[in-house]
Amino acid sequence: MSFIQLRDLTKTFSHTLKPAVDSVHLTIEKGEIIALLGPSGCGKTTTLRMIAGFEQPTSGSIKIGGEVVYENQFTVPPEKRGIGMVFQDYALFPHLTIAKNVMFGLSKWGTRAKRERAKEVLELVGLADYAARYPHELSGGQQQRVALARALAPKPHVVLMDEPFSNLDAGLREKMRFEVTTILRKANATAIIVTHDQKDAFAVADRVVVMNEGVIQQIATPREMYRCPKNCFVAQFVGKTNLLSGRLCEDMRHVDTHIGRVSLPAQSGVMLENVKVSIRPEGCKLAEEGRFTGKVERVTYSGEYQEVVVNLGAGTTEPMILYAPIDQDVQPGIVVSFDITPELVALV
Ligand code: ADP
Ligand code: MG
Repeated sequence: MSFIQLRDLTKTFSHTLKPAVDSVHLTIEKGEIIALLGPSGCGKTTTLRMIAGFEQPTSGSIKIGGEVVYENQFTVPPEKRGIGMVFQDYALFPHLTIAKNVMFGLSKWGTRAKRERAKEVLELVGLADYAARYPHELSGGQQQRVALARALAPKPHVVLMDEPFSNLDAGLREKMRFEVTTILRKANATAIIVTHDQKDAFAVADRVVVMNEGVIQQIATPREMYRCPKNCFVAQFVGKTNLLSGRLCEDMRHVDTHIGRVSLPAQSGVMLENVKVSIRPEGCKLAEEGRFTGKVERVTYSGEYQEVVVNLGAGTTEPMILYAPIDQDVQPGIVVSFDITPELVALV
């Protein structure tokens, strides 16, 4: 059963013409972790704030757990929506201990129940020994776990997190992606995590929702999204890609581009003559006698792979990006050939 239902959710701020959030349609299952991914200003925070009840929609409806919380001016206040929110800056109270921060949202609970629940959630986030400390005595990652514990304390139906990893540096960020999802799964929470970072989204989410200019572009699992981006925006926003214009062949399984004939993973469902294909760099594999040949312009070593930029010679056309294993000897100036794996090619 779908647990959160957004129907045609739209928000147009006063004095603006274009909606910040435009007809968003989304259903989320119980226990699912969703990442809302998109560039800055695309409407992620506004969507989250409407679900939480901090922002009134212009139109559309929101259901949580089968109950309408917004429709036609009827609105359930934020505190009655069963939502736990983690803000971008964590918003911990500096003058309260960690335990008191966590108990803050439990005002209606008895003193003993409050203490027990605080202990329970602090154990869940691995901070049971820090109850008596103050926020400034904790690291960034620990503060974030306190914010998550505070959000989980009242046993919300839904957890909303706005850019939870943006204040953390690279190493800690990776660790926290894992920790946050582990904690959310243990708490059996349904969660929406907002981020502008593709790696965050792919690491935490069951399904990713890509937004641009207030409009949902695609909803898919990370794997589907990477392999079959639905349009040029998604192909370019989610990872790197080579975008080529071409003509769909009559068999609808190949596209003729300026670099040659490219195979699709399956027969195309569209009949368009002029198309665009997205070819992922991982789909281009250097080979002794590959079908495509070009001169290496640039090699960038990333530690995990080498990014190789290959010019296929046709003068004005964009060079292709390939990923090569780090142990392969590739130098600028040499001529290489490669093959393209159809599974990493998509019509966009
Ligand atoms: P994101 O979180 O994806 O960066 P936001 O939801 O914060 O994007 O903003 C979406 C758009 O709505 C932006 O163009 C932003 O300037 C505008 N916006 C956000 N809040 C307000 C507001 N209170 N009044 C007017 N415009 C706003
Ligand atoms: Mg935002």
